[in-house]
Amino acid sequence: MLLKTEREAVLFFSKKLLSSGLVKGSGGNISLSNPEKTMMAVTPSGLAYDVMNLDDIVVIDMAGHKLEGDLKPTSEIAFHIALQNLRPEIHAVVHTHSDYATALACLGWELPAVHYLIGFGGKKVSVAPYATYGTQELSDNICSVIGRSNAVLMANHGLVCVGTDLKQAFTTAEMIEYVSHLYLLTKSVGEPAILSDQQMDEVIEKFKHYGK
Ligand code: 13P
Ligand code: ZN
Repeated sequence: MLLKTEREAVLFFSKKLLSSGLVKGSGGNISLSNPEKTMMAVTPSGLAYDVMNLDDIVVIDMAGHKLEGDLKPTSEIAFHIALQNLRPEIHAVVHTHSDYATALACLGWELPAVHYLIGFGGKKVSVAPYATYGTQELSDNICSVIGRSNAVLMANHGLVCVGTDLKQAFTTAEMIEYVSHLYLLTKSVGEPAILSDQQMDEVIEKFKHYGK
């Protein structure tokens, strides 16, 4: 079996995506490439996470051709590949339809530094313009706004997070969902205080050593 370790990680975080409530049904998708980045393990398209098995995880090359697996790879392979090609340190991508991040994306609001935990994604999270799911245009839109950030809101669609590994990309997705929730809560009763660039620089520097 090709990329057994990467497939196991994709399956583990797929189940976690569902149990954490970041997706419903078969929404969202996950990818993890091997360190040499010649191949990538991705979730299959349209299969509910609760019935997903190791054999269902698809292996593709970095041009999107299927190398192993009976099912179709996720319809979003364009942005999974493009993000991993864009920044050499990115090996993992997690895309969710989590409620609060998606609500912001539907409003077309970027997420500001309302809580220091946004630092997992960056100093703020920008919104990529809308394009139909599964298109090259959607991939181009995400790549055009991500910069050095680890998270992008996708207008009228959801959230995409990147990392050096799946744990980082997944944790970022959880944290951005949490901060999105806080932002909408605070906006519903007043005007939240936003952390400054300098305050966020300090947090992001501190995160480099957090838990290590
Ligand atoms: P897939 O099931 O093809 O991964 O599509 C889900 C999705 O979230 C599309 O954006
Ligand atoms: Zn989606």
